[in-house]
Amino acid sequence: MTYGALEAGGTKMVCAIGNQNGQILEQVSIPTRYPEETVPEIIDYFRKKEIAALGIACFGPLNLNQRSATYGYITTTPKPGWANYDIVGAFQKALQIPIGFDTDVNGSLLGEVTYGSSKGLENVVYITIGTGIGGGVMSGGKLLHGMLHPELGHMLLHPHPSDPYPGKCPFHRHCLEGLASGPAIEERWGAKGKDLAGRDEVWELEAYYIGQAIVNLILTLSPERIILGGGVMHQLQLFDLIRAEVKKQLNDYIVTPLLQNMEHYIVPASLHDDQGIMGCIRLAMDAQFADE
Ligand code: ADP
Ligand code: ZN
Repeated sequence: MTYGALEAGGTKMVCAIGNQNGQILEQVSIPTRYPEETVPEIIDYFRKKEIAALGIACFGPLNLNQRSATYGYITTTPKPGWANYDIVGAFQKALQIPIGFDTDVNGSLLGEVTYGSSKGLENVVYITIGTGIGGGVMSGGKLLHGMLHPELGHMLLHPHPSDPYPGKCPFHRHCLEGLASGPAIEERWGAKGKDLAGRDEVWELEAYYIGQAIVNLILTLSPERIILGGGVMHQLQLFDLIRAEVKKQLNDYIVTPLLQNMEHYIVPASLHDDQGIMGCIRLAMDAQFADE
């Protein structure tokens, strides 16, 4: 049995065919232009394949409420042409197969808990720190959706007392994304993250903000593990700095065996940037199962 996987991003659409073991058998990348151009190209790719179901992990915000008339729509994105676009409907109509649908970060989370080093865990948070910051939550084995879906990249943070940078987010300024995304690092320090590798103060401040967000997540969601991915996390020195910040900011308020083993509690993504597309395979399998 093979499945279709679509990782729908703001710059590219990664389309793949995989099997239930998470093996990617083939993959192509299509630039994201307007839906009228890009979606038919993707449909054309999948139409020629023998797939039992399709899993889509998509940039958002999205409507994930299956009882809503606009389930499966991309909602308020500033990306031209894609606001209020019925992406699930477009593929459903053309391919007539079960379609699984979730946020891009939930896709990555699913990939990690299905095929990666977090296999089998049921209470996990996945955060990607790149151009934007997004996060997915699994609680009791289920992906958290709720009213919309978590937008934990916009969690409001307390600015560091010695950080004069006002924050980049046009909505909140000092939210996690406004203070700690790749573009925020670049604007604050006047150079790209990868060119600041040797500047300790950059990564100490970055860890202060990511650590603060993780403390809030521990206090609200009580996850068993936190997985960090995205371009900024290529600075591997951040991991130990973040672990130390979390310990410091929690201040022994919560003491559990998992927290005592921080290297296994706050971890990098383990699937070499394939976690998203592999998560789409799982989304497809779940959709097929739900349809039976
Ligand atoms: P996107 O979020 O656009 O899908 P990425 O996850 O690769 O893509 O994130 C891109 C952001 O990460 C950019 O702001 C870039 O400056 C930053 N980035 C990429 N590589 C590194 C690196 N090695 N060190 C620090 N920052 C990086
Ligand atoms: Zn914000």
